[in-house]
Amino acid sequence: MTPRSVYWGSLRRGEIAAAAEAGAVALLPTGATEQHGPHLPLDTDINAATTVCMRAAQLLDGAAVVLPPVSWGVSPYWMGFSGTITVRPETLLALVADIVTSVAKHGFGGMVIVNGHGGNDGLLQAAAAQASSQTLRVASVSYWNLAPDALQANASGDGGNIGHAGEAETSIALHLQPHHVDVTAIEPDPGVDLPVPRQAFAEGHRVYEPPWPERHSPQAVFGHPRAATSTRGQLIIDAAVAGLGQLVRELRADLVAG
Ligand SMILES: [Zn+2]
Repeated sequence: MTPRSVYWGSLRRGEIAAAAEAGAVALLPTGATEQHGPHLPLDTDINAATTVCMRAAQLLDGAAVVLPPVSWGVSPYWMGFSGTITVRPETLLALVADIVTSVAKHGFGGMVIVNGHGGNDGLLQAAAAQASSQTLRVASVSYWNLAPDALQANASGDGGNIGHAGEAETSIALHLQPHHVDVTAIEPDPGVDLPVPRQAFAEGHRVYEPPWPERHSPQAVFGHPRAATSTRGQLIIDAAVAGLGQLVRELRADLVAG
């Protein structure tokens, strides 16, 4: 038996209607198309977020469907590096609002925005605040915040932070798409320590300041990619998948209780 399809784009309209009727939660992967140091592919963020959504939805067996991913994010600070595509904050907010409105129109009462790019985080929380109502619940989470223990254990050299093209993201890319990683491009130690607490990805987001590569890292790498392994990446992704599954189950329980 082939596994049940969970990807919105692969389903037919009747299957979407049935999923909404059954109380399925719609998952929206968001991320970026942006430079990830000399060694990782441009789709590192959206690839991780989409994978977490797809794996969680498959485990939930019909309780969630995965929308086509939003592959562009707010990344103006990486525009000095080839390949980065950035959209304005208002563009991302408007796009997500329109997607949420469309999904709600088709009868879904619960959505989770699953983000893979730190620069989108605050905006997507605003999108969730804007869209949520008594009949539509929208949650927003960056996938690494679903797996804090795994991140601490498997990116300890970076203080348990996701960083940028550092230990965690390089491990995840080695797990998910090793053929697109160029480990020979990692210099002996091109990474820089995450300035805490001022850095964008500091634990707990005590302060948010967009990355400033011109001042802090000429390679635009935050963290230490040399410690990365595929096994570490798998452990982080597995924990995020489990965390998202739990979040969807809790959201569905609230919706049913209503
Ligand atoms: Zn990234």
